Amino acid sequence: MADFNSSGKPLDFEKGFTIDFNMVNGLSSVKNTSKRLLSKVKSMFYDEEAAKKELEENGDRLVYEFHELPAPEHDGDLAFGMSIVYPGKVGNEYYMTKGHFHTILDTGEVYYCLSGHGYMMLESPEGDWSCQELIPGKAVYCPKRYAHRSINVSPHEVLRTFFVFRADAGHDYGTIEEKGYRHLLVEQDGEPAIIDNPNWKQ
Ligand code: ZN
Repeated sequence: MADFNSSGKPLDFEKGFTIDFNMVNGLSSVKNTSKRLLSKVKSMFYDEEAAKKELEENGDRLVYEFHELPAPEHDGDLAFGMSIVYPGKVGNEYYMTKGHFHTILDTGEVYYCLSGHGYMMLESPEGDWSCQELIPGKAVYCPKRYAHRSINVSPHEVLRTFFVFRADAGHDYGTIEEKGYRHLLVEQDGEPAIIDNPNWKQ
């Protein structure tokens, strides 16, 4: 069974369209996947020595990946996809995504947790922050102007979230790469705990 539309094209992004994606593994037959190996993102972890050790001992593991589903990137359109963060730690810091602001800062985003156990770290340019727990069935609203980063705190489970944001919002990874987050989520006595980032740059 296919969709019907006035252009006759099977997947016309200017019209309404459907895309398959698997609620269990987050994969779609429309492939637009980006993978982030530890060697490529090691500088986002605060403990450089631990990152080096992790690479030597456990090899270059996949930290996270995301699948962007195709959508028109215009003001007023919505983009969506899946974010998948693998379980693991660098020292006592959980595997996480790099995190980003939107280039158009005044745009929010919604993440819906499909599986796993994690947190969304939110931080504004002025330093206001919160860290929201994600479990299956919970949606987190990332308000406009807040950088957002997914963190997997489960020792074994994969954290999978479905996200939707304004399609022309754009991604500013550079600010976080340069300055870092003011707060980090690490494991202390077997529990997630917030610490100040010792490497944060004003
Ligand atoms: Zn975003």
